[in-house]
Amino acid sequence: MNLILLHSEADGTLSKLSLETLAATIALGAPFSVGIVGENTASAADSIATCGAGKFLTVTGPEFGQARYATDAAAAEALIRAVGPDLVTAPATSRWNRVLPGVAHRLGGKADSHVTGLVMADGKPQATRWFYRQRMEAVFSRSTRPWLLALEGGIAAAWAGAAGTANAEAVSLTVSSPRTSVIGFEAPAADQQTIRPDADLLFVTGAGWTKKQSDGQVKTAEAETLILDFLRLSRSSLGSTKSLVDLGGEGVAVLPFLSHMNQVGQTGSTPRHAKGLSTCCHGEEPHTVGWRFIGERRAISLDANCGWARGKADILYVADAFAVMEKVNVLLGR
Ligand SMILES: Cc1cc2nc3c(=O)[nH]c(=O)nc-3n(C[C@H](O)[C@H](O)[C@H](O)COP(=O)(O)OP(=O)(O)OC[C@H]3O[C@@H](n4cnc5c(N)ncnc54)[C@H](O)[C@@H]3O)c2cc1C
Repeated sequence: MNLILLHSEADGTLSKLSLETLAATIALGAPFSVGIVGENTASAADSIATCGAGKFLTVTGPEFGQARYATDAAAAEALIRAVGPDLVTAPATSRWNRVLPGVAHRLGGKADSHVTGLVMADGKPQATRWFYRQRMEAVFSRSTRPWLLALEGGIAAAWAGAAGTANAEAVSLTVSSPRTSVIGFEAPAADQQTIRPDADLLFVTGAGWTKKQSDGQVKTAEAETLILDFLRLSRSSLGSTKSLVDLGGEGVAVLPFLSHMNQVGQTGSTPRHAKGLSTCCHGEEPHTVGWRFIGERRAISLDANCGWARGKADILYVADAFAVMEKVNVLLGR
């Protein structure tokens, strides 16, 4: 028996990632139960009532509506003990990613995160994940049970069956006044959040945006406006070269919305987007290696001899990125 662990959202629904994890769990072809944690779980359970689960179990209550280690871990532990599964799958949300290793430890099991594939081979589950900054992909299994897996998004199409009546069984769990009280969330406004993994386009900024331009002037303020306008209009995700984020990290007044989190490359991230547009960047190997999962690559650089021209980009525009992006923003704004 397998178990899929889910948590309902604030409005009582299940997220797309939860439905993808459900589809990946069903695809294993093994019997499974569903465990749902949340403030309201009934409508979430009913929404997937026809998914073929043997049982629906819930841990419900206001204290389970919030992301908190103590309550999330206790709820997951109670559900796993109630089912006694070999394999536990969960969507890789921040809530489950945070508690699964600790829950596995309590149960004498093992946990693995960032799972990007799950299949049955010779009657045993096999997981896939990347290692060493996504340079090596491994397919592996474990003999320890229970085996808890946090599944990444996009590995299965979201389950889209009919709703029904789940007749979920409540697992009672009393949590004696947890020490941590969640008083709210502090998050940057949506338009300040520049890293958007779901965006179609990766927009990369290079150090050229902060260099002296043909008129001998540095135009950082203009660069900031052009970049932020483009991000707002295109909803793309912002990546950067190391040179540019390092300048910011040294306290040089460059582009204040960039941090090392935006850095793409060998010592940065390896994002996955359908398309990428690089601007004011030289396209050196330590940077472009971070583009290996980007589908279509374009670059705008003044240097006709830059790395992008040497086979790194599908299309290189040898042009002034200030002028090009100004025009692009006007067109997008229409
Ligand atoms: C071990 C190691 C690891 C590294 N890891 C990374 C990494 O993870 N990520 C990373 O990015 N780098 C990494 N680097 C650094 C990398 O080698 C390059 O130094 C860096 O990517 C260069 O950044 P850049 O292209 O923005 O800057 P520059 O090399 O300074 O290039 C700026 C470019 O902007 C162009 N330009 C200027 N003005 C304009 C304009 N108006 N319009 C159009 N183009 C313009 C210029 O022609 C130039 O080509 C690493 C280096 C080492 C040694």
